[in-house]
Amino acid sequence: MIKLLEKAASYGERKAIVSDGRSFSYHELLRSSGNVAAQLLSGQDDLKEERIAFLVPPSFEYTAVQWGIWAAGGIAVPLCVLHPLPSIKYVLEDTAARIVITHRDYEAFLRPLEEEIGIRLLLIDEIMKEASAVLPDIENTRRAMILYTSGTTSKPKGVVSTHANIESQISTLVDAWEWQKDDHILNILPLHHVHGIINVMSCALWTGACCEFLPEFDAGKVWEVISSGRLTLFMAVPTIYYKLIAFWEASGANEKHRMSEAASRLRLMVSGSAALPVPVLEKWREITGMTLLERYGMTEIGMGLSNSYRGERRPGHVGLPLPGVSIRLVDENNQPVKEGTAGEIQVKSACVFKEYWEKEEATRKAFTEDGWFITGDIAVLNEGSYKILGRDSVDIIKSGGYKISALEIEDVLRKHELIKDCAVVGIPEPEWGEIVAACIVTEENEIDFKQLSDWLKSYLPSYKVPRKYLINKELPRNVLGKVTKNTLKSRF
Ligand code: ATP
Ligand code: MG
Repeated sequence: MIKLLEKAASYGERKAIVSDGRSFSYHELLRSSGNVAAQLLSGQDDLKEERIAFLVPPSFEYTAVQWGIWAAGGIAVPLCVLHPLPSIKYVLEDTAARIVITHRDYEAFLRPLEEEIGIRLLLIDEIMKEASAVLPDIENTRRAMILYTSGTTSKPKGVVSTHANIESQISTLVDAWEWQKDDHILNILPLHHVHGIINVMSCALWTGACCEFLPEFDAGKVWEVISSGRLTLFMAVPTIYYKLIAFWEASGANEKHRMSEAASRLRLMVSGSAALPVPVLEKWREITGMTLLERYGMTEIGMGLSNSYRGERRPGHVGLPLPGVSIRLVDENNQPVKEGTAGEIQVKSACVFKEYWEKEEATRKAFTEDGWFITGDIAVLNEGSYKILGRDSVDIIKSGGYKISALEIEDVLRKHELIKDCAVVGIPEPEWGEIVAACIVTEENEIDFKQLSDWLKSYLPSYKVPRKYLINKELPRNVLGKVTKNTLKSRF
């Protein structure tokens, strides 16, 4: 039996979801997902890990469809409503999903794929129709979901998690962040990624709490919900906090006061999926009195490191391993490094995924012989808290024998009064291997780069100071707000 659904059954008439201004109980959610399961089975007794894709905006229907696929024994493949057709086609072809469930609004968008790659579209109103079937018994060792990585370093990879992996990912966070039945969270994240699916939606429903959906992010609407006083929790990526701050700053004095007051009453606000710039953490604390809790995770491992819920939250750091998660930092020879020395993060835990979808070779290469998952992220342990230095392939710049963390340089650049945002990358160069280059977002038309470099030298050794600069209106980002550094490199 799927534990999440079993728990939901015990919550009966409690409010599970608020979506499009309507409330749905756990009972209604299970009934709708039962209908979806019965329709999908239509005569078979078990979907036996068949991949069922779905393109549904974050809503009650989204959850009912995901749970329905699980209840029928299928593998859920969530698609992102913000992705263009080629990205969707890539996932459908990669998973060889034959069925795609969708909302009427996306019907015309997806129809061409029926012929092109031979999928069958099922519309939500058809699939949620009253129906009944004997549902299969699901072992938690079964594959449950395929989520695609963000594609920051190369083409997105399909990460397969079992029900047991997902249960561990959820229960780890529920314990660490002390989820309660009377919690109420707002989801503004796309639901094709662990952050929204696991940390927000599934943790809420595992606990008997309420998950409210906004179909897409809108700073004014988020502030409205925060101001209503019904939220206890909020989780987002750094760019969202950045936009919430900008909206707050553009508001009138009374408004500001009301918004700050309301935000200060939440019990927890979390940031993750990308490094949280220290100025954003500080500004948020200044306007709400609340220190954002930053954590580190990835599609393959769920969450791995987290600042403490009750204890210290160190700016620029991601805290310590979550309960049940083992983390080690190693050098090039796979040997653990000393405290204070940078190394690659490796992870072992029940949360770690099963395999990359139909990529045996990539899966084998992703683990050490003794079973540690190789993340490709570099970090350092400083006085009892981990600091992420970035991805080995895009954030660690190899220049003249040095290994330079782009994130460290970005942290310093953001201290400069004229710089609103920035991203640092390594550009191939024959003499040095790579040179440090910075893309800067500013309201100025021009910046004196010589002066900027001199200013940087008071914070950084000169080999870390950018050799090339570029001013852009904004940074290239994916739908989760992560800077797509490979795109940025090509701009230089
Ligand atoms: P791909 O694997 O396709 O290249 P991706 O690694 O960005 O893309 P995700 O699994 O969505 O795909 O993101 C996980 C990565 O996000 C981590 O490996 C890490 O580099 C980064 N990350 C997550 N949380 C943080 C954080 N708090 N600080 C810095 N980086 C973070
Ligand atoms: Mg990755």
